[in-house]
Amino acid sequence: MERKTFLRLLGITPLALSMDSLNALNKISESFSNTERMPLLFIGHGNPINAIEENQFVTGFRDVAKTLPKPNAILCISAHWFTNGTKVTAMEMPRTIHDFSGFPKELYEVQYPAKGSPALAKETKQLLSPTLVELDENWGLDHGTWSVVKHLYPKADVPVIQLSIDYTKPASYHYKLAKQLSSLREKGILIIGSGNMIHNLGMVDFQNFNKDNYGFDWAIEARETINSLLLDGNYQPLIGYEKLGKAIQLAVPTPDHYLPLIYTLGLQQKGESLSLFNDKLYAGSLSMTSLKIV
Ligand code: ZN
Repeated sequence: MERKTFLRLLGITPLALSMDSLNALNKISESFSNTERMPLLFIGHGNPINAIEENQFVTGFRDVAKTLPKPNAILCISAHWFTNGTKVTAMEMPRTIHDFSGFPKELYEVQYPAKGSPALAKETKQLLSPTLVELDENWGLDHGTWSVVKHLYPKADVPVIQLSIDYTKPASYHYKLAKQLSSLREKGILIIGSGNMIHNLGMVDFQNFNKDNYGFDWAIEARETINSLLLDGNYQPLIGYEKLGKAIQLAVPTPDHYLPLIYTLGLQQKGESLSLFNDKLYAGSLSMTSLKIV
């Protein structure tokens, strides 16, 4: 298709675009083909050891990957990149960050050698305008991303970038910001939020660490509340989660692992449906509940 025809289809003329935005549009168009709208995922990543263990959650990650079209690239919003302001990884080869301590040596030896995508990073920055987004050359892939994406795409043959979460902003801001990324879904970009809906590390029950689907009463209540709001498509109370009562306050003592969920929900389009997987409590005060929107 000629550029003129393409721009006419978009409802814009070359004169309406600055040279900068035209160049950026060309870049993303050259780098990624148009696709059907990609599904969305929120993944409960849980314990970093999931990266090298065989368990029901890892099976759940692999099973969901089988239902997805192969993406052109992945944009992951990880609970473990919580920054003042918004950043996007823009390097050609992101390093594998072992951002945890006290785990077996084997886990520190894992490398996930997926490429980055400077072109996608620049497009993401532009889509999020006027929010200032820093093109970051220092971060890489933290375990919120690689411990999960490793199971989705074990060959590391899909480029991966990360978008950080601005910790100075409320959930309502992140819900709106996410919507600006919508068009990436039609470019074959798989957008993943990686966190945990219920995540209270201070209350973890180490005595019952491996007991299946084990949660404290408040965690059981929090899961029921969150799941029923999700399945009803009633997201406003989830965005205003601070007002949902004691069980949710215990489930979300800090927003880092919860906000990736808000990004996934913000990107849902009308007519799309949501399904849960890995819907289990874990170690009393955590949940692995994950979801797919398609
Ligand atoms: Zn985590």
